[in-house]
Amino acid sequence: MGPLQKAGSHRRPWRPHGTWPPRPRAGFWARGLVALAAACSCGAAAGNLTQARQTPIQGPLSLAHFVPGQSACYDRNKRLPLAVVDAHLHARPFGGPPLPFPDLLNHLRQSGVLFANLYGIGQRLPIQSPCTNPLDCPGVPLQPTLKSDFSNAQNSLDFEPDDLKLVLSMTFADLARPAEVLPQMAILDKDYPGLFRWMGELNLVKQALFNNGHQAVAFETIAAWKPFMAELRRRRMPLAIHADLGNNQQPFQYLPLMERVLSLYPDNRIIWMHLGLSRELSVIDTRQHVALLESLLDRYPQLSFDLSWRLLDDQVFSDRSQRDRYVALINRWPDRFIPGTDVVATAGSGAMAYRQELAITSGILARVNDEAFRRIALGQNFFELAGLEAVAPPICRLVR
Ligand SMILES: [Zn+2]
Repeated sequence: MGPLQKAGSHRRPWRPHGTWPPRPRAGFWARGLVALAAACSCGAAAGNLTQARQTPIQGPLSLAHFVPGQSACYDRNKRLPLAVVDAHLHARPFGGPPLPFPDLLNHLRQSGVLFANLYGIGQRLPIQSPCTNPLDCPGVPLQPTLKSDFSNAQNSLDFEPDDLKLVLSMTFADLARPAEVLPQMAILDKDYPGLFRWMGELNLVKQALFNNGHQAVAFETIAAWKPFMAELRRRRMPLAIHADLGNNQQPFQYLPLMERVLSLYPDNRIIWMHLGLSRELSVIDTRQHVALLESLLDRYPQLSFDLSWRLLDDQVFSDRSQRDRYVALINRWPDRFIPGTDVVATAGSGAMAYRQELAITSGILARVNDEAFRRIALGQNFFELAGLEAVAPPICRLVR
């Protein structure tokens, strides 16, 4: 993406949305670095660089520990195995009031999350609907809309935190109506230039919403995505896709749709949500599933998978032998997965509930090897996909 244009942004000229980390004149940043230098024995042990590099981070993690060049290490033995990145967080609900944005930020802080990728949600219930969850209101149609993207962008400006890094995602796009995507991107670009770094979560096929007017995108429509996919490549903007793999009757029913996307757009950075799993696919041969994921990772180097949603744990990872297959897969492909809670910030949802979702979705990360933990839980894969200049700290080795 091009550099952020901050014309007219007189209130916070240093705002770091276009570049990360913030420029040095940000007081927080400078203070963070000073504190880090004081806490770190870097350079003190001249001639023993290995030892210097193994100085464990003391106290709570902060953004200062993700500055390029910092060398203090993350000690997995002494810290809870929770992701510090939530790459899949819906800051707005389908309907009804949202959790107030400052409260959402506090939930992140209280859980130790430092980086969050804000999804809309992109599909909203009609304003006259009393529902907050479309599953409770079959027959009420969901509409893809720009509303949540505007709300997230404005909130991120109004409540911009110094101690968290938020990434904004365009969630409005309707994959069944590709001609509308670029004109609507232009609307967001006009009002919020340079703020968005990501697109998704968009629905290619989501069976849970079939009773709310959603259908699987037609196979032939995917070829018509070309113009906006070219623009995403130009911006190096990843596209996060929700695509149910199938259901208990036909576990791979919708695989041809995702294969079509991947084969038509192999140079787009695509993230497949939830490993393709869903409530409708509660019974799956995990050997077959892992073999499929591996084959896709092998054939499509720009493909990543999102590990969000507690359903993965409920349906698969909670069984140790099944889980170990996925742990082995992640260890073989440590740079191809990102973490997330898939929490929807509905009014009234509490910090404890958020932390619980974080703990459950982080469960598998406690099992992966150090490289995968650093790349997934500590965010390196997310930073690279989002184009952030942050660097995940190394994992301490000497003390293990
Ligand atoms: Zn989601």
